[in-house]
Amino acid sequence: MTKHSIEIDFSENIEINHPKCIHGPTLLFHSSTSKFFACSACRDRQECDIFIPYEKRHEKKSKKIIEQHEKEYEKFKEYIQIVQKNRKKFNKQRDIHYCYTCSTLFSENEQSDHIDHKYTESLNRQQLRQPCQYILQPLENKRSNAQFFFSQTFIDYLINEIILKTSWDSIICIGCPTIFENLQCFNLKKKFHSYLLDYDIRFCSFYSSKQMLIYNMFNGHIFSNKKYFQEKFLSIIKNCLIIIDPPFGGFHRALSYSIDKLFQSYEINRNLILFNPYFLEKWIIDAFPNLKMLDYKIEYTSISSLNLCRGKKGSPVRMFTDICPSKFPPLDDINYKYCFECNRYTLLTNQHCFQCQSCTSKDGLPYKHCLLCQRCVKAERIHCNTCNVCHLPNQCMNKTNKRKHSLSDNRKKRRKK
Ligand SMILES: [Zn+2]
Ligand SMILES: [Zn+2]
Ligand SMILES: [Zn+2]
Ligand SMILES: [Zn+2]
Ligand SMILES: [Zn+2]
Ligand SMILES: [Zn+2]
Repeated sequence: MTKHSIEIDFSENIEINHPKCIHGPTLLFHSSTSKFFACSACRDRQECDIFIPYEKRHEKKSKKIIEQHEKEYEKFKEYIQIVQKNRKKFNKQRDIHYCYTCSTLFSENEQSDHIDHKYTESLNRQQLRQPCQYILQPLENKRSNAQFFFSQTFIDYLINEIILKTSWDSIICIGCPTIFENLQCFNLKKKFHSYLLDYDIRFCSFYSSKQMLIYNMFNGHIFSNKKYFQEKFLSIIKNCLIIIDPPFGGFHRALSYSIDKLFQSYEINRNLILFNPYFLEKWIIDAFPNLKMLDYKIEYTSISSLNLCRGKKGSPVRMFTDICPSKFPPLDDINYKYCFECNRYTLLTNQHCFQCQSCTSKDGLPYKHCLLCQRCVKAERIHCNTCNVCHLPNQCMNKTNKRKHSLSDNRKKRRKK
């Protein structure tokens, strides 16, 4: 399957052979006409503009661009180390403040450095353990970095109804700091170990490298010290739950490649829960064929300019998982029903179709079965005999195409005369 007919080439070792930008190794993309290296995390060239045509990668001009980007990459890695080092100072201190302008913790005697800055004062241990809850706002300035924090109701559901009821010895949270911090504060360390993998450097002020790594989920690159993670975490765990909340615009195949790479030298049984909008289902299943979509609407707290989560249909975000759907109790007692045919809970509005043998609604609104299309379609669509698919009334794509065809046909006929 192709997404805008661009494929990603994973044949080379990306850590060694691909140029790096501030987001780590680039990916090698190819279409029928071109092959090039570009940023793994940002599709928007305004955010990260690295672009190296494959056949020109050894040319002087390309080398200069690569050099510039690799400098940025090194600077970012150095900055991570500075923040991590700074954090250690605060292990035993009492009066700890957080500066939003500098994204750093500081102590009483450093206050003069932050005089005109926006900061919050005297943080207690609880607040430091749960920075998403008490200190930080979700990032929303950039499309690739847009964060959504899960609602507390959903986090409690996930922990109490799913995580605590199954026997994973470890939970890896990728791009979902709110879930991670709640796992930490439940103080469940005896039951399982949890780790946060995230690209957001702000968390380095709150967590050590024994708790988190700076990580890009689209190339699998680890920016911070990974010794503890690999030697004391991955080499010990046996049954792991991976929870991933990727940005909506990410490359799912790249994500799937990164997850496999993370685990490649270890024998670990793993389950996956991935959050993404229902309308990306086919890309997700293409990259992760074992996943199934649950139709629970996942709520977030953030009020973002990019917030897609507040349409009339409610949140479009769903869970995709390889855990048996029957293990997921309903999110609430009002909006869900149990389908005995599917052996899972689904939205009340999602009626079971005996022809398709499943509860077929994707967006939470009613669907109906079309005998001619041989599948379920949105209830407001009508089967069109012109193009032989179901679509909204007056939205036939064939009509406009047909007119063009008949015009050119006429021209041909005229020419023949
Ligand atoms: Zn980049
Ligand atoms: Zn400051
Ligand atoms: Zn059903
Ligand atoms: Zn059907
Ligand atoms: Zn139809
Ligand atoms: Zn039509």
